[in-house]
Amino acid sequence: MSAIIKAGAIDGDRFDRSRRIKWIDMEKIESARCFVAGAGALGNEVIKNLVLSGVRSITLVDMDFIVRSNLNRCVLFREEDTLKKTMKADVIAKRAKELNPGIDITPVNSRIEEIDSSCLKNHDVVFGCLDNIGARMHLNAYAYFYGVPYIDGGTDGTTGKIQVVLPPDTPCLQCTTNKTHARILEKRFSCTGQDISIYEPKIPAEITTTSIIAAIQVREGLKILSGKKEYCIRHVCYYNGFLNTFDSFEVSLDPMCPVHLSKFSKSVHPYSHS
Ligand SMILES: [Zn+2]
Repeated sequence: MSAIIKAGAIDGDRFDRSRRIKWIDMEKIESARCFVAGAGALGNEVIKNLVLSGVRSITLVDMDFIVRSNLNRCVLFREEDTLKKTMKADVIAKRAKELNPGIDITPVNSRIEEIDSSCLKNHDVVFGCLDNIGARMHLNAYAYFYGVPYIDGGTDGTTGKIQVVLPPDTPCLQCTTNKTHARILEKRFSCTGQDISIYEPKIPAEITTTSIIAAIQVREGLKILSGKKEYCIRHVCYYNGFLNTFDSFEVSLDPMCPVHLSKFSKSVHPYSHS
C-alpha cells in the first residue's frame, strides 16, 4: 500500500523531483562542499547547476571583473554589472543566493595560483572552469595531491571537452598534456586583458555549448557525490555541437607524469579512496 501524502507536500519540497531520480543521493549532495575555479561562462553555468541541484556549500575563485562581451553566455550577469567593473565571483555569489537563499557561497577574488591550495582538501569535488592551461595544471596538481576529484571543462566555439580525474585511479590532466599544450602553458586569456603575458586572439564562445559542457561537469559531480563514480566519464569526453558528435576516450596514466611522481597526500578523502 502506498504511503499517504499530505496535500501540497510534494510541491512544497524544492528537491522533490530530484529525489525521484533513483541514483541521486540528495542527502549527500546537500551536505557536499564544492570548489569552483573560474567565474566566467562555464563558472556561471556550473554554479547555477550546482545550486539548482541542491549543493549548499560552494567556494568560487576568480580574478576578473565583468565586461560587456561576457553577456552572450553568462546567465547570472546583467548589463548593470558591466558599468561598475564588478568582480565576477562577487556577482555570481549574490545572484546564486537569489536562486536558493539557503546556500553558503564564498567568493574569492584571486588568481587560482595565489590561493592557499590546502583549502582544496576541505572540498568534496573541484570543478575547473578555467580559460588557460597553466591554471588548469596548477589546480589539477593540487586536487590530485589532496585526493579530491577534479572535473575539468573547456570550450572553443561549438566544441567542448570534459575530463574527470579521480585520484589515485585515473590519469590526470598532466598525463594528457601534449607538446602543443606545453608551448602555450603560460598564455593567459583574461577577458579584461589583465595579466596577459602573450596576446592571443579571443577564443570564440557561445552559450549553447557552454551550457552543455557545464551541465555534464555538474552531472559527473553529482554521480561522485552520490557514490556512483564508476558511472563517470572515462576519462575524456569531446563534444562537437556543429557535427553532433559526442565521444569518450580512455587515456593512459603516464608513468612519468610529475603529478603522479610527486608524493601523494596520505589524507583519506571520502570520494576518492572508497
Ligand atoms: Zn598525471
